[in-house]
Amino acid sequence: MQQRLVILGSGESGTGAALLAQAKGYDVFVSDAGPIKDAYKHELDAHGIAWEENKHTLDLILNAHEIIKSPGIPEKTEVMQVVRAKGINVIGEIEFAYRHAGKCIIVAITGSNGKTTTTELTFHLLDSAGFDVRKGGNVGNSFARMVLDDIRHDRTAEGSRVFVLEVSSFQLDDIQAFRPKISMLLNITPDHLDRYEYKLENYVRSKFRIAMNQGRGDLCILNGNDPNIGQYLTENPQAIQCKKQLVRKSELKNGYVRIGRSYAFDVASTNLRGPHNHFNAACAIRAALALGAEPGQIEEALYSFQTPPHRLERVKEVKGVLWINDSKATNVDSVFYALQAMETPVVWIVGGVDKGNDYTPLMKLVKKKVRAIVCMGTDNSKIIKAFKSTRIPIAETHSAIEAVKTAAALAEAGETVLLSPACASFDLFKNYEDRGAQFRAAVLMMNDE
Ligand code: ADP
Repeated sequence: MQQRLVILGSGESGTGAALLAQAKGYDVFVSDAGPIKDAYKHELDAHGIAWEENKHTLDLILNAHEIIKSPGIPEKTEVMQVVRAKGINVIGEIEFAYRHAGKCIIVAITGSNGKTTTTELTFHLLDSAGFDVRKGGNVGNSFARMVLDDIRHDRTAEGSRVFVLEVSSFQLDDIQAFRPKISMLLNITPDHLDRYEYKLENYVRSKFRIAMNQGRGDLCILNGNDPNIGQYLTENPQAIQCKKQLVRKSELKNGYVRIGRSYAFDVASTNLRGPHNHFNAACAIRAALALGAEPGQIEEALYSFQTPPHRLERVKEVKGVLWINDSKATNVDSVFYALQAMETPVVWIVGGVDKGNDYTPLMKLVKKKVRAIVCMGTDNSKIIKAFKSTRIPIAETHSAIEAVKTAAALAEAGETVLLSPACASFDLFKNYEDRGAQFRAAVLMMNDE
């Protein structure tokens, strides 16, 4: 009998899972409590897959043999409570794609910050070294969509395919057998705690699931200086059953990433700015070496790597002032690392929707590096209050263009204007990409005369 598979949530991962499931012969139904994007509706329609939006019809859901849950859906929603009560097996799209991926090599990357950068870099190192590699997961194409593509091209039996996957903690919550050949746990700082009963230990446990199925022949690369990772390893000595490599700050010195006694990679001359990016590089390099990339190939690829947009992205130099777009810095921790990476006095553009930020951890760095603050948000009062005592000049603006004009008037040759907002963007912008794009466009409009 045809198995019924119900997919809850139809974003990139839900739609990818639906397409893969249909290709594998399941009876597929997609249900989303909100609106489904037109592009995904068209795809589902084109493949004759049934769907509903803005509701969950329980009669069409509870008859499923198995349910694929999108990572955005919390356990506490009504639909999940009913599904759990009925005892239906629930998996995530990553797990489902893994079941059908065939012979391949998986590099899976998680952490609170740095996932996308490290995923892009690992992909670039392997791609440049001639590996047959694809990237996706929590960013770009879903794993299921990539697996489907390989199935269509008869590529699942070869074993040479490498998938570099960015994986979020929500995605890890719904894996069962998912086993990467190489896993990375970059760092753990408090995030998304509303989904983890406001308990950091639950979030930490969730991140460690990335390695739970790894065994002989696998590798787990971890941050050797992260207190949350260190504490978990001490309390759970059996947590990692495969070979592990701890990446420590002592490996990152004078602009070089050193690996053991054998290798030293120059990262200071690359586009990877700041110690946090050098750490990301150390993890990516270790993965590439473990898979057999040549050090010479890695070194060359490091030079040609372009950091992904909106993450310490160098936009332009105008009249001796360097403009940097770090719109993706939506929390205090990522601003900390951005300021740490700055090498000149900074005019700092900050603000947006405050997520209950505590700015105290930034105080020392701001005093040391920031010469002027430009607030960009609907309500800037909290930032003004937080930094008033520093006596650093503070200007208020309410759009990207106004912020750029104000920063241009304040910045002097030899300084850097850094957009690193520490806040979400939806007061003035659609999302962080829109915020970064508007900032970039306003900067590019300026004349360098
Ligand atoms: P993620 O995909 O985990 O959100 P990104 O690579 O998109 O991570 O980077 C998000 C923000 O975090 C950027 O502002 C970036 O500069 C900062 N960041 C990148 N790597 C690290 C790291 N290893 N530690 C702390 N912050 C980082």
